[in-house]
Amino acid sequence: MTPGDEKFLRRAIELAAEARAGGNPPFGSLLVGPGGDVLAEERNTSLTEADITAHPELKLARWAARELDPAAAAGTTMYTSCQPCGMCAGAIERSGLGRVVFALSTDQLGGLKPQAAPSSFRQEGPALFDEARVPVEGYYL
Ligand SMILES: [Zn+2]
Repeated sequence: MTPGDEKFLRRAIELAAEARAGGNPPFGSLLVGPGGDVLAEERNTSLTEADITAHPELKLARWAARELDPAAAAGTTMYTSCQPCGMCAGAIERSGLGRVVFALSTDQLGGLKPQAAPSSFRQEGPALFDEARVPVEGYYL
């Protein structure tokens, strides 16, 4: 981590404070190009927009996938006030961003809030392979 990284992390922390001041969970993120130019900034808006997916990391990953070609996306760094959750990590992976730098780790965040209940949904499968594979076969080749 460089002094430049710390500067952008501090901006992510400012965005987190802005999210909280605006009535949302306290998380913020920004996307920075290889030359140190800020490409986009986001705050968590999951409460004010009544959208459980409105995490700043996910919003930036969607923006990058829409607005940047793969090479440009790979050259960016996301700075975020907290380590991305599983949902956002999946979106970041799919968006092709090259690097993520976070301030609070998931474990550190866990020490600052009540324990969440363990995941309660049940997954069942696989099933109906011969039917389910039909729309997929040949798509990726
Ligand atoms: Zn998230």
